[in-house]
Amino acid sequence: MKKIPLHTQIFLGLVLGVVVGLVFGEKAQLVKPIGTIFLRLITMIVVPLVLISLMLGTASLGDIRKLGRIGAKTFIYFVITTVIAISLGLGLANTIKPGIGLGEDVKSQLYQSYESEAEMGVSQMEEKPTLKDLLINIVPENPFNALVKGDMLQVIFLALLFGMVLTLIQKDKSKPLIDILEGVNDAIIKVVHIIMKLAPYGVFGLIAAVIGQYGVDILMTLLKYSLVVIGGLFLYTFSVNSFTVSFLGKINPLRFFKAVKDAMVIAFSTSSSQATLPIAMENVEDVGVTREYSSFVIPLGATINMDGTALYQGVAAVFIAQIYGMSLGLTQQLTIVLMAVLSSVGAAGVPSAGIITLAMVLKQIGIPLEGIALILGVDRILDMCRTTTNMVGNMACSVVVKQLESKNK
Ligand code: ASP
Repeated sequence: MKKIPLHTQIFLGLVLGVVVGLVFGEKAQLVKPIGTIFLRLITMIVVPLVLISLMLGTASLGDIRKLGRIGAKTFIYFVITTVIAISLGLGLANTIKPGIGLGEDVKSQLYQSYESEAEMGVSQMEEKPTLKDLLINIVPENPFNALVKGDMLQVIFLALLFGMVLTLIQKDKSKPLIDILEGVNDAIIKVVHIIMKLAPYGVFGLIAAVIGQYGVDILMTLLKYSLVVIGGLFLYTFSVNSFTVSFLGKINPLRFFKAVKDAMVIAFSTSSSQATLPIAMENVEDVGVTREYSSFVIPLGATINMDGTALYQGVAAVFIAQIYGMSLGLTQQLTIVLMAVLSSVGAAGVPSAGIITLAMVLKQIGIPLEGIALILGVDRILDMCRTTTNMVGNMACSVVVKQLESKNK
């Protein structure tokens, strides 16, 4: 019998998960441990993967100027695409006005159900560091602590520093070290391949549990809002990324989306950019992005570049303002753009990070933070969609940066 390809198996896992979640409801939680084990396995490999492959990637660039060029291009790409994403979110929310006409009964029901969770989120946000702290915190005080905590920006900093240093010391000293790192890297990649074989089961377990817990009917209570977010994410993911990969990355968008579909399903089912990292780095290899680029652009993007989160925050801020009958002027809308860029940088690539940093956006414009209670119920499902958009953006960026750099060669 012909073997079913892995991506088809993953897709089947997703479909089966949805069916089981819908049929068994809360009982579908029984299969959650399968998903949790899968999630732990990928999370387990993320820190070593980023550390070693980025260190090797930087060492193989062999020149600090090249690293600077790649860094600058990546950064500019991140900022421009994030601003486009929020602007699209704002544009849609201002035109479709999902917050106008929401029934009083729905509002009070949502408040009652989610008030305490919303308060928890808001107080968590109040403890969030400022941008200045965020920058200072990139430098770890203790490298081992950075690895243990899995603080991605600190791990990236360490990998870049040591990778660069390997090009600065004598060749006969660095060569044996690089050989060992290459061996370790191959072993890590092998582990990723093994974990991916379990992906169909993991995806099944995760999706069945989420759909079983939240159902899809919760989307109905906030149908217009959910549709604006999901529609916006869909539009953004397929239009902007198609444009950038074909015009700047010089590859056919269909080829790109075909290559990255496994990463899209994993992002969707885990709601975590961080957990999608290993498979995303693998997938872009199919469109010619070598580790030299993917090991830098994708982990950095998974930590600081979140187009989907930014778009969603734009819609959510306008939606909550509309519910409170506030009309937002141009200055306030521009403030949302700025704040959503910062808060998508500040949000970690883990589930629900975006709704916590949304508090920062709302606070800045004086939109009542309790509004978060209104949208919490549908957030998990929207998180799945925005995480997919986030990771597609990072993978597209790696294609573009690689192409722009190859012109320099
Ligand atoms: N879950 C998202 C991610 O990992 C972040 C968010 O909550 O928006 O990319």
